[in-house]
Amino acid sequence: MRGPYVQDLRRLLEKIKTPFLRGDRVGIKLHWGEKGNRSFLPPDYAREIALWLKEAGLSPFLFDTTVLYSGGRRKAEDSLQTAAEHGYTENFLGCPVIIADGMDGRSVVDLQTGSGHFPSVQVAAIFDQADGYVIFSHFKGHMESGFGGAIKNLSMGFASRAQKQRMHADIRPLLKAGLCTKCGVCVEVCPTEAARFGADGFPTYDLEICIGCAQCIGFCPNIALQLEWETDATVFQEKLIETAAAVWRQIKGRTVLINALLNITTECDCWPGENPVIHPDQGFLGADHPTRIDEESIRRVGAETFKKAHPDIPWERQFSYAREIGF
Ligand code: SF4
Ligand code: SF4
Repeated sequence: MRGPYVQDLRRLLEKIKTPFLRGDRVGIKLHWGEKGNRSFLPPDYAREIALWLKEAGLSPFLFDTTVLYSGGRRKAEDSLQTAAEHGYTENFLGCPVIIADGMDGRSVVDLQTGSGHFPSVQVAAIFDQADGYVIFSHFKGHMESGFGGAIKNLSMGFASRAQKQRMHADIRPLLKAGLCTKCGVCVEVCPTEAARFGADGFPTYDLEICIGCAQCIGFCPNIALQLEWETDATVFQEKLIETAAAVWRQIKGRTVLINALLNITTECDCWPGENPVIHPDQGFLGADHPTRIDEESIRRVGAETFKKAHPDIPWERQFSYAREIGF
């Protein structure tokens, strides 16, 4: 699918006063979509951002980080292959595409947070590799955070695999046996072998080794698995904010934020299955702070849209917690 709104994006870009200096190296952070996902942003928009940066005498590159679950982005090589299959190639974009936490996932750095759930958070060691950033986020729904936009892109998007695990640690799969057909997909996709077949043919989930990646939930063809919180769902929202705030402290003042309110689906671009559109396209939005851009994005789409899609997720806690910790 080609991006039909490239001219709209260009109009927004022309209005942005950037913090970059000629010659700066600028990292464009985005999610290029999990293997099998069909709702990710087409690469035309990233190419337009790269072109806009190059016209200003800057050196752009595109980056993302590796993920916890098996599929097309767990290993750096696979993630670059998935990016290429989705059209995110250096040839098309006109700039390099890299994995920010390194080809072995070990290029990471610890950032102090001060307090809260994490004394420090571990994220990709990208901060010395770029003079500035464009945080380009696909705004849509999300199973665990209600919505996903700039906050999620800064938080889960910059997090090392260990930090992703720390944020997901409270999430568990819960089987609704009446809907399960014993197809085995959840066992097949589980990256830790926590999902196994029991003696009765139904899957079981070993919570001692489950990392809460939710991949089994996402892949189940019969919606037989639901998400259960070991603590409560607000903790995840707070952890998300703490990680985003720590990253933002590193890059604020040298970053442009853009949300794409397009193809607004129920779930995020990690989602391999059916992912219905829940609201018509609303174009692009720029702002100077991650919570402000996401709050305005929610206002444009309507909070009711996300409450209906994810009624049990207290996503509002992201904003109240952000205020409490001075993010
Ligand atoms: S059982 Fe746990 S580790 Fe395995 S796929 Fe499900 S959530 Fe992930
Ligand atoms: S993927 Fe879903 S339907 Fe298939 S075995 Fe697992 S829980 Fe049951």
